[in-house]
Amino acid sequence: MASFSALCFGPGLQPHGEKISVQIGEQGLCLWPGEPREQIIPYQPIQVSAGGFDHEQMILAWSKDAQAWSLTLTDKHAQDILLAHTPPALAPQLVQWRKKIHGAKKRMRAGWVALALFLLAPFLLLAVLLWNPDPVIGWAVNRISIENEQKLGDLIFEQIRPSLKLVTQGEAPRIIAEIGQKLATGSPYAFKWHVADDPAINAFAIPGGHVVVFSGLIKAADSPEEVAGVLAHEIEHVLQRHTLKAMVHNLGWRAVIAMVTGDWTGSLLGEFATQMGILKYGRDKESEADLKGLQLLKQARIDPNGMERFFDKLSRQGGTQIALLSTHPASKERMEALSAAIKETGAWRSQPLPYDWGRVKASLPAR
Ligand SMILES: [Zn+2]
Repeated sequence: MASFSALCFGPGLQPHGEKISVQIGEQGLCLWPGEPREQIIPYQPIQVSAGGFDHEQMILAWSKDAQAWSLTLTDKHAQDILLAHTPPALAPQLVQWRKKIHGAKKRMRAGWVALALFLLAPFLLLAVLLWNPDPVIGWAVNRISIENEQKLGDLIFEQIRPSLKLVTQGEAPRIIAEIGQKLATGSPYAFKWHVADDPAINAFAIPGGHVVVFSGLIKAADSPEEVAGVLAHEIEHVLQRHTLKAMVHNLGWRAVIAMVTGDWTGSLLGEFATQMGILKYGRDKESEADLKGLQLLKQARIDPNGMERFFDKLSRQGGTQIALLSTHPASKERMEALSAAIKETGAWRSQPLPYDWGRVKASLPAR
C-alpha cells in the first residue's frame, strides 16, 4: 500500500504539527499505520485545499468528534504519491486542487515579474545615472526631513555611545557646547555637543547635529578660537548634509531606500554607525565646509585666524597621522583657499572667547 509522510495537526498533538506516516487505504487514509494509535479516516469528510505562502501545499482537513484535524503535505514528493494513488472518493477534489495551484503559480509568476520591475526601476535609473550618482543621492537626501534626519542621528549616536568615553564633568563639555551653540545660532538643527575622553586629535559630526569632540583635540588647541574653527567646519558638514550624503554614497541603494522609506531597522544602522569613524569627505566638500564655516565664525564674531592656525599647525605636525586630517584632508589648496577667503572677507570685529583655555584643558581627565 502506498504511503507518504505529512504534518498532522489535531487535538493532543504538537501545536506546530507532528510528522506522521499516512497510508492510502481503500476505506480511507490510515494514520500511524502499525502503531497502537493507528486510525482510519474515511475519505468522505475530507476537504482538500491549497495552502502555504505560495499555495503549493496540499491540505487535507476533516473533523472528528467535533474537533478539527488536518494533514499538510508540504513536499511535492508526498503530493505526487497521493496524486498517483488517488482514491476515487478524493479524485474530484484533487483535480480541483491541481487546477488551483496551477493558476496560483501563474499569478505568482506574474506577481514576481511586476515586483521585479518595480524593484528594478530604481536600478535602471541608477544605471542611467551611474556616471554621476550625485543627482540620485541628492534626490534621496532631499526627501528626508530634518526631523527624520535628527531621529536617524539620535539612533546612530546611541549605537556609537557605548564606544565613547563621554566626559560629562568639568568645564570642557559646557564650554564646547557654548562655543558650538554660538556658532549654530539660527540653524534649523538642534545641535548636541559631546566631549569624549580620547587622545586622538579628532572631532566628528553625525547627521542631524550630534558633534563629538575628542579631548585630544581640545588639548592640542592653544585657544578656544582654534576649536571654534573646527566646530564651525563640523557644523557646516551637518548643515550642508555632507555626512548624510557621504553615508548614502558609501552604503549605496539600501541607504537610498531606507532614506526614502524611513525604515532604518536591521544592520543598516550599524553600518551607518561604523561609517562615522571612517567617513572621508571630498576635497570640494572640505572647502565648502571651510568657507561656509568661516561665515559662521564671522556671524559669531570669532577670530577666523584660529581656524587657519589650527589646521595649519596640525598638517605640519603629522599630516594624515592626525585623525582629524585623515577624515578632513587638509590639502595645500584647501589651506590656500581658506587663507584667501579670510583675506577677502576682510577683518571683522572679533571678540575673544572669554575662556581660560589652560583651565579648560586641565579640567579634562588626565592621561
Ligand atoms: Zn571636513
